[in-house]
Amino acid sequence: MSVNEALLTTAAKARCQLCHTVNSIDIVAESFRAYLEGTVHIQEAFPSLSVNDRELLMQVARRMRGDFHWYLCPACWEEMGEG
Ligand SMILES: [Zn+2]
Repeated sequence: MSVNEALLTTAAKARCQLCHTVNSIDIVAESFRAYLEGTVHIQEAFPSLSVNDRELLMQVARRMRGDFHWYLCPACWEEMGEG
């Protein structure tokens, strides 16, 4: 793999089920592919991501696999926690 391919990034986007805010993060495409294929855990593929960004990625991956997914933005998570 060339250096350029290793650094190729892709945008992962998810829409909040409650407030419909669309959040997007840029991630290394190769790492995301490996995670989607199940060859690495999300913590290994993206060790520097915040908990919120990991949650977004996990929901995007579930959507791409055709699994049940339910993304809530961090603000809505917080409201649910307080309720
Ligand atoms: Zn929301």
